[in-house]
Amino acid sequence: MFSILNITSDSPLIISGPCSAETREQTLLTAEKLAESGKVHLFRAGIWKPRTKPGMFEGVGEPGLEWLKEVKAKTGLPTSIEVANASHVELALKYDVDVIWIGARTTVNPFLVQEIAKSIEGSTIPVLIKNPINPDIDLWIGAVERIQQSGTREIGLIHRGFSTYAPSSYRNLPMWQIPLDMKRRFPMIPMICDPSHICGNRTLLTEIAQKSIDLDFSGLMIESHPDPDKAWSDPAQQILPQNLPSFLNELIWRTSVSLAQELSQDFYTLRSQIDQIDDELIDLLAHRMLLAQKMGRLKKDFGVTILQTERWNKILERISARATNLGLSKEFIKRYFEAVHLESINHQNKVMNG
Ligand code: PEP
Ligand code: MN
Repeated sequence: MFSILNITSDSPLIISGPCSAETREQTLLTAEKLAESGKVHLFRAGIWKPRTKPGMFEGVGEPGLEWLKEVKAKTGLPTSIEVANASHVELALKYDVDVIWIGARTTVNPFLVQEIAKSIEGSTIPVLIKNPINPDIDLWIGAVERIQQSGTREIGLIHRGFSTYAPSSYRNLPMWQIPLDMKRRFPMIPMICDPSHICGNRTLLTEIAQKSIDLDFSGLMIESHPDPDKAWSDPAQQILPQNLPSFLNELIWRTSVSLAQELSQDFYTLRSQIDQIDDELIDLLAHRMLLAQKMGRLKKDFGVTILQTERWNKILERISARATNLGLSKEFIKRYFEAVHLESINHQNKVMNG
């Protein structure tokens, strides 16, 4: 039985295969090339495709599951598919699919996640949960909790980016903070990156994959197709299966820092210096808020408004000149001080209205 329990950033999981299973030949050919590479642990193929508009290719359905059985028999590669409801799960189990994943358009829907959770009760099939299409971490957490409640022990997460209306070079914005937050909340659950759906094209794939490795992710899902430009779904982002090894070899695989490893003294020293600075920053911020409260009391006594726009502009001007001299970016300092300013106003507000 295929297990995802031992996946870590030191032994990352590589998933590849077409966006959609289109024909028996295309599915088998992709799998054979991937198996030959020796680099892939899990084959993927979409059987039911959630398409944005009607009239597009919506997947081959059940016959594709027969092809996946053949893939497994011929290449030895375990298989994975997307499921979006109970009947998909039932068929996945019936055809011995090894891993199922919940797509981004399904993670957003608690009814469907609950339905899937119910339908896997009693089975041991590993479940990968993609992030919801909108940047709502609670939906992602909720999906994990529902699947955990079904008794499933083998859960993984897939970061595939978040949709946006604004023009962007990505199909789905990476918004790294969200998967990192999920990693912090669920340290035992592996986080896999899906650069194909983040990028929507082939050119940015390496950059995104590398970033995920640098952020200690535990694997990659890369779409591959024997004739990418002619793929029936997601043609712009798929790569040739025979190009996967060079794609992976180009990446710099790093070793995650585990306590068991011997770390150099320099590393410990730097880390403790950073901790020290973080502590000091917090103490200074708390001090700043105390002063703001004192100002609040004075403002209350003199009957003046909290927000003194002119003063705020002066602070911002002075601070950003100093910061840029020290090599800090203007945008960062602006965002940082806006947050500090807002917190100060809240503290003053409490004093004035308390
Ligand atoms: C897919 O993996 O082909 C897919 C539809 O992905 P997502 O749910 O991330 O859009
Ligand atoms: Mn796809």
